Amino acid sequence: QPELSGNFEKFMTWVDEFRRLKVRTNADTPKDAAQAVVFGAEGIGLCRTEHMFFDEKRIPAVRRMIVSTTLEERKKALDELLPMQRKDFYEIYEAMGERPVTVRLLDPPLHEFLPHGDEDIKSLAESMNIAFEDLKDRIEDLAEFNPMLGHRGCRLAVTYPEIYRMQTRAIIEAALDIKKSGMESILPEIMIPLIGDVVELKYVKKEIEEEIQLVFEERNDKVNYLIGTMIEVPRAAITADEIATEAEFFSFGTNDLTQMGYGFSRDDAGKFLSDYESKGIFEKSPFEVLDQKGIGKLMEIAVDLGKKTRANIKLGICGEHGGEPSSVEFCHRLGLDYVSCSPYRVPIARLAAAQAVIKESVNVTRDK
Ligand code: PEP
Ligand code: MG
Repeated sequence: QPELSGNFEKFMTWVDEFRRLKVRTNADTPKDAAQAVVFGAEGIGLCRTEHMFFDEKRIPAVRRMIVSTTLEERKKALDELLPMQRKDFYEIYEAMGERPVTVRLLDPPLHEFLPHGDEDIKSLAESMNIAFEDLKDRIEDLAEFNPMLGHRGCRLAVTYPEIYRMQTRAIIEAALDIKKSGMESILPEIMIPLIGDVVELKYVKKEIEEEIQLVFEERNDKVNYLIGTMIEVPRAAITADEIATEAEFFSFGTNDLTQMGYGFSRDDAGKFLSDYESKGIFEKSPFEVLDQKGIGKLMEIAVDLGKKTRANIKLGICGEHGGEPSSVEFCHRLGLDYVSCSPYRVPIARLAAAQAVIKESVNVTRDK
């Protein structure tokens, strides 16, 4: 596992004396989490759960869960997935020690979970004991023209709340298990993706909280937890005062906020944004460097509105911009509590967060 060299480590401890922003990491495996800790991560700001579902051992159950038309069948598939999810979270908590962990509930583009090609469909149909043609029709029904603006994130949980219930159960059961093993301070942060409306959030949150209460009763034990949301749909940013009535924290998903703010597809914009750069329209792709005037303005609105409702709301960023120096500086000025970035960007983010403070004090001295 790569480590920071002695001198660099020492330099970084000086750096850390300056910064106010915390630096967390985006990690969804214990290995990445442990690597990020070596680089100085102070928590996980985004534990995506999609990749866990792509695991070879799980994908048959995941596919059955997605294409099943009855709750009973979906629950059967989810029961198979639960022990593996519980283990995922336990091992991640373990790797992070006492540091905070934000787990984001499932946010896949649905089509990635569907079987591709007749062979795959045939074997899934056989395992489910249904006709090939019926399954093919079902898959066609589920297919979308524009999956990134489609049935993903919390929208999936509006249709199938049992998916988020299974994940929530795994998050809480793993937390209770690790608490029992001596980590009393465990405080899972459950994050709901793609929220655009407070009523949508209320609906999903109620399902989650019911499941948490069930687990507490079954185990006759409790843990503290937080429930928050990503701010990644522009409507969530401009109604953040309402969203904050239900969310204990916001994490800015600037990848989607940029996609939806500009109307640029995350998957396709690379094909033409290079022309914007070469023709001087953009200095850099807004997916790489945060557009402080536009997308940043949405963030500013959300911070102001969110704080109006909940003065102590916890604020972070987990889009790719969380590890990009000029964006980190912007997040510092905005008053966020932390930035979260991929493990290898953690040292850069620590440095940028300290530079933001130094720059600020230089500016104050100049202004005097
Ligand atoms: C985001 O949209 O910025 C985000 C962090 O979520 P994802 O990249 O998984 O959509
Ligand atoms: Mg997103």
